[in-house]
Amino acid sequence: MDRRTFLVAGGILAAAGAAGLVRALAGDGSETLGQTVPRSSAATTIQSAPTSSTTSSSTLAADTSTTSAAPAEPTVTTAQATPTTTTLQAALVVPIICKTAWGARPLAGALGAHSIERMTVHHTAVRLDRNADAPGQIRGHQAFHQQSGWADLAYHYMVDANGNIYEGRPFSAPGDTFTNYDPAGHFLVCCEGNFDQQDLPEAQVASLAAMLAWGSDAFGISPDTIAGHRDYASTTCPGTTLAGIMENGSLQAAVVALLESGGVELTEACGDEGAALVAAIEAGTA
Ligand SMILES: [Zn+2]
Repeated sequence: MDRRTFLVAGGILAAAGAAGLVRALAGDGSETLGQTVPRSSAATTIQSAPTSSTTSSSTLAADTSTTSAAPAEPTVTTAQATPTTTTLQAALVVPIICKTAWGARPLAGALGAHSIERMTVHHTAVRLDRNADAPGQIRGHQAFHQQSGWADLAYHYMVDANGNIYEGRPFSAPGDTFTNYDPAGHFLVCCEGNFDQQDLPEAQVASLAAMLAWGSDAFGISPDTIAGHRDYASTTCPGTTLAGIMENGSLQAAVVALLESGGVELTEACGDEGAALVAAIEAGTA
C-alpha cells in the first residue's frame, strides 16, 4: 500500500515531461522512487558532477524498494553523444517516514477518492514542547481520528518541529475534518504543534515548504492554491504564526524557490531505516 501511494505520484511525475524526468533521475538511481520513469527512457544516462569524466554513470534502476534517506542536492550533468554537457539542477531529496515505521494503526475503514486541486495547511493545535514526543503525538492523533469514526489520520502528511515528515492518509483519498468544509480536492499537510501558542521552527517551515513544492509538481497545481484551514472553515487553524507566513506570502515564495531550483523528490524511510529514524527522533537526536 505504501509503495502504491508513491507509484501513483511517480506516474504523475513521469508524465510531467522532461523536467520531471531529470528530477526523477537526480541522485543515485537506486534512491529514486521505483518505476517513476518509463523504461523507454532508460537510454538516458546521467552522471553526478564529481564523476562526470568517469564511467560511473547511473542509469535508471528497475523497481527497487531501496529507500536511502540521503539528503543530497547534487548538481547533475547530462552526458549525451554530443561533446557538450548541460548542467541541470537536481531535486531536493526528502525522506518520508513510512506509516509502518512510526507505528500507525491499519486503516479502520474504506477510503474514498478525489482529485487534488489545492493545498491546505493545518496544525494539530496540540503543543509540541519536546520534538521527541512527535511520533507519539501523531500516533495519538491517528488513534483519536479512528475513534472518531474515520478510516485513518485526517491528513496526508505530518511535519514535526525538526522537519521530519510522516506519511499519513494516502493522498489518493480525501481527508476528514471536524469543521465545516469539504476536504475533497485538498492536499493536506499538517504541522505538529499549536501555532496560536508556539513559534514556528525554521526546520518545520522548510519541510512544510518541501511538501508543498512536491505537491505542486506532483498534482500540477499552482503554489497560489496554498491556503490555511482557516480560509475554508470556522477555525483558527493553522494558528497565528503559521497563518502569518502564508498571509505575508513567504511560505508561497519558499515553495516557488524550491520549484525553480529543481523541485522536490520524495524517498521513503521504511523498515529498519524508518524504525531507526523514529527511534532517533524519540531519543531527541533527529
Ligand atoms: Zn486544520
